[in-house]
Amino acid sequence: MSFSALIPALPTSDAAELEALDETALRNCLMARVEAAWRLAREVHPELPRPHVWFDLRGRSAGQAHYGRGGLRFNTVLLADNRRVFFDEIVAHEMAHWLVFHLKEGRRARPHGREWQRVMRDLFGVAPNVTHRLDVSQASPQPYLYRCHCDTRHAFTSRRHAMARRGSRYACRRCGAPLVFDRRADAAETASAPG
Ligand SMILES: [Zn+2]
Ligand SMILES: [Zn+2]
Repeated sequence: MSFSALIPALPTSDAAELEALDETALRNCLMARVEAAWRLAREVHPELPRPHVWFDLRGRSAGQAHYGRGGLRFNTVLLADNRRVFFDEIVAHEMAHWLVFHLKEGRRARPHGREWQRVMRDLFGVAPNVTHRLDVSQASPQPYLYRCHCDTRHAFTSRRHAMARRGSRYACRRCGAPLVFDRRADAAETASAPG
């Protein structure tokens, strides 16, 4: 693959413009962004099929390239609170998966391997980060992580977290240690589904 003539790729998005959009307009703009990324990807792979777009992803995943369904899925809850990250990174991230998967030999490439990183950097002009700093507080009903002495994962709702802050004591059922607030879950990953 050679992209040298194509840099840079997707224009930087305008934060104020994005913040002003209502939910429908935001989805339409994201679809247009996917379309722009797809057109760019077709410059290296003219037969690349146009991916369908769904807004049905839930939970902590921002986006997903779903080859079996033939398209890209996005999380609207996370989109609403992280507009620029979606426009500047997530769309490119998922389109890069889509492109690599359709390249000859692409199915054997690692999900975030060399090929994917090259598409991100050289075609889309985006740093190939696998995780993104996202506000997931609306998407995760239990965004407060607590730790004990064993490796049990303890996630609190904001209500339970407030109780703990006011002095309620909680202990791990497995190791018996008191639960101590660790951090907020504020990093989301994108996911990609195989075939
Ligand atoms: Zn424990
Ligand atoms: Zn990925």
